[in-house]
Amino acid sequence: MTAFGTRFIPEMIVSWYDGERWSEPQFAPSDRLVIHPGAHVLHYASTCFEGLKAFRHPDGSVKIFRLDRNLARLAESSRLLALPPVDEALTGRMIVDLVARYREQVPTPPGSMYIRPTHIGTEPAIGKAASPSRTSCLYVLLSPVGRYFAEDTPALRILVEEEMLRCAPHMGMVKSGGNYASALGPTLRAAREHGVQQVLFCPGGDVQETGAANFLLIDGDTLITKALDSSFLHGVTRDSILTLARDLGLAVEERDLTVAELLERAAKPHCEAALSGTAAVLTAVGTLVYRGREYPVGRGTEGPVTARLRQALTDIQTGLAEDRYGWLTPV
Ligand SMILES: *Cc1c(COP(=O)(O)O)cnc(C)c1O
Repeated sequence: MTAFGTRFIPEMIVSWYDGERWSEPQFAPSDRLVIHPGAHVLHYASTCFEGLKAFRHPDGSVKIFRLDRNLARLAESSRLLALPPVDEALTGRMIVDLVARYREQVPTPPGSMYIRPTHIGTEPAIGKAASPSRTSCLYVLLSPVGRYFAEDTPALRILVEEEMLRCAPHMGMVKSGGNYASALGPTLRAAREHGVQQVLFCPGGDVQETGAANFLLIDGDTLITKALDSSFLHGVTRDSILTLARDLGLAVEERDLTVAELLERAAKPHCEAALSGTAAVLTAVGTLVYRGREYPVGRGTEGPVTARLRQALTDIQTGLAEDRYGWLTPV
């Protein structure tokens, strides 16, 4: 099977901002993009993106999950990066038009069509290290995907990291390229030294998130996750899972969680932990590695609440359960 996100639909849709307005979106080959080598993005990382999915339903229709939320976040990321303002309505139409054009290629569940809107600063001005790009380009890529983690993958092993930051604290809620490059060093080192798949960034003992997914702790009928602040990425999957957890009668606590409390709760046999994200969906965490010691979470395998929450989410996404929150956009 090809790796997640390496297969692309041969066309994308593109709009350019010239400093005053967005151009009429156009379909274009998705294997090239002509920008000046001095473009702002290539030097000063003025770039942000989104990741969302379209799903095929049993009646053959295709629906995009939480398009409005992802558009709002792209606009917010762009604002925080001083990129030109995103036109959410225009960008929404670009996404719907592109998915509609390739609707036949949307895989059946558990596969889906991964959608990657990207916004980059294009002004050729290498003297602008401290000022924004006047022009930009917004394009949308499509990638048919299967599961991110194979079905029989054991629960994840992650390193609890207290010293390193994932990114600069004021950049946490921005879905911007530089943040991932910034987390790569600590993540590669953790894999090499501790054989872990991910790093859970907990600066000063404050449990935040991993490189590209949010962290949830489930202790009996209580779900604990960090309350929204500017230090971490506000996941749409996180928000959806919290909504469904309340539906299932769980008490949701959005608050600070310390490493000490995490380890104490993880030791209980029924405790569960999971990572949430569009790609990972909801993936169980089985082992925490902390200061060279291993701490299993509960029994060290996926627990029943994690499985139930993931099922509730994918049932709505794939049309097996009613869309009671209006999360789906038809294409
Ligand atoms: C994208 C992302 C998430 C998950 O967000 P979703 O909207 O659920 O896909 C979490 N953390 C980081 C750092 C991310 O980049």
